Amino acid sequence: MENHQISLSIRNVSKTYINAVKALDNVSLDISPGMFGLLGPNGAGKSTLMRTLATLQEPDNGEVFLGEIDVLKQKEELRQTLGYLPQEFGVYPKSTAEELLDYFAVLKGITNRASRKEVTETLLKQTNLWDKRKQKLGGYSGGMRQRFGVAVALLGNPKLLIVDEPTAGLDPAERVRFLNLLSELGENSVVILSTHIVEDVSELCTNMAIINKGKILLEAKPQEAVAALKGRIWRKLTEKNKIAQLEKEHKVISAKLLSGRTMVHIYSKELPGNGFEPVDPDLEDVYFTTMTGNDEIR
Ligand code: ADP
Repeated sequence: MENHQISLSIRNVSKTYINAVKALDNVSLDISPGMFGLLGPNGAGKSTLMRTLATLQEPDNGEVFLGEIDVLKQKEELRQTLGYLPQEFGVYPKSTAEELLDYFAVLKGITNRASRKEVTETLLKQTNLWDKRKQKLGGYSGGMRQRFGVAVALLGNPKLLIVDEPTAGLDPAERVRFLNLLSELGENSVVILSTHIVEDVSELCTNMAIINKGKILLEAKPQEAVAALKGRIWRKLTEKNKIAQLEKEHKVISAKLLSGRTMVHIYSKELPGNGFEPVDPDLEDVYFTTMTGNDEIR
């Protein structure tokens, strides 16, 4: 069978803002269909990259291709097959979900009333908002608004779907519901989820990259990156005032409060002694190991 799936190719993309902040530093990524997680702390450059891919801003250098489409040059072609859910999704508080989705569908070029009805009904059901379709958006919770944003982003069956920090303002239950919705997408299209939350990626994404200070530090499959750390992560429960000393003796990758004490994770290929015990690594260990500049896992 011929493969009609298209992928996204990002080549040497750089962007320096007027204030001399280098938000993207020679970023290259190859992203196949499925869920891709772009993970990094605040200020890493995620939104800059997402906005660039969504044709909302120009990089200084580089190329981006979605299949045959030259994203930076053929903006209109890209926009026709793009779904973009920005960090802050503004809604008209006085319209209902049904009305506003219908309106966006017209803007997307679905002019036939009957097909529009069918499309909006499918999307409202898919995002679990069908029962709430006649409610005003002003009364929606954060999670409902984000799901409505997904419905809008999915209009016209995009080949590229960009979701920028979608879980940031959601409570835990809303977050789970939202991630479940995303997990049902992304088999035939490229879905990029940008987030600073490690669990978003570990629960959802088949491929990922870690970005910091505009640079891609790691590009991997989450499971493989975790497996690569096996036998190298050690932990110890200690007191906060001991951490400075531990940092001198070991490669501390994280220190987290745990019931009033501090759980320290270190990276070491050898037995570290000093009361450390081995621990099964998880994606958070991958993230912190990468962020603390450990080259060995790349
Ligand atoms: P993230 O989405 O990962 O938080 P951003 O792409 O928003 O990162 O920001 C990357 C860096 O660029 C940050 O240092 C940020 O302060 C800076 N930045 C973002 N947008 C602008 C802008 N319009 N003008 C100047 N600096 C900006």
